[in-house]
Amino acid sequence: MAEIKRIRCGSVNSYLIEEHGRAILVDTGRNGSEEKILAQCQKTKVELIVLTHGHLDHVQNTAYLKKALGVPVALHKEDVNLIKDNFIEPLRYRGFLGMVVAEVSAKSFETDRIPEFTPEIFLKEGDWLKDYGINARIMELPGHTRGSIGLDLDEKNVIVGDALMNMFYPGLSMVYWDRGEMVKSADKISALGARKVYFGHGGPVENRAWNRAGI
Ligand SMILES: [Zn+2]
Ligand SMILES: [Zn+2]
Repeated sequence: MAEIKRIRCGSVNSYLIEEHGRAILVDTGRNGSEEKILAQCQKTKVELIVLTHGHLDHVQNTAYLKKALGVPVALHKEDVNLIKDNFIEPLRYRGFLGMVVAEVSAKSFETDRIPEFTPEIFLKEGDWLKDYGINARIMELPGHTRGSIGLDLDEKNVIVGDALMNMFYPGLSMVYWDRGEMVKSADKISALGARKVYFGHGGPVENRAWNRAGI
């Protein structure tokens, strides 16, 4: 079974997923955490970088780590334009905390930048990462962004990016491109049944009926 190592990069997580000496890196964090992530990656053999979505806080070190590790980058094609400009997709929100998160995000989209990189692989629903040594199935989880994806690992653990969040409490994402799609994606995660859920923000929790718990 794949081992999941959570690498905390300030408020955002990267995940190193390793099985039998082969590994993939999921998300690359913000500037300032690149050396920390690289040090973890160098302990194993990373073969691929997967991005759960195109928001700055999840992809900012991609160009650096891609070059340092010499590996391809994979994401959903619907988020390719987002890595060039996070402002092309509206960031809507719910609740007071959502408003705060949306404001902080918008500020960072304005003042910060994503160093340029070109992804080689486009992932879609049902793709497997077995070629990279990892028993992960890709799930399309649109809503937070158009091209948000998750990774279902060994039917035991699921990495959901920002499709769900555990920023203040575990629940539905407080910021999104499309609320209806986000709720559908949360239902899709609930329907997986028994899983440990790993978020882009916050620590892991057991899977549950997200729709009722979070909105
Ligand atoms: Zn996000
Ligand atoms: Zn995020």
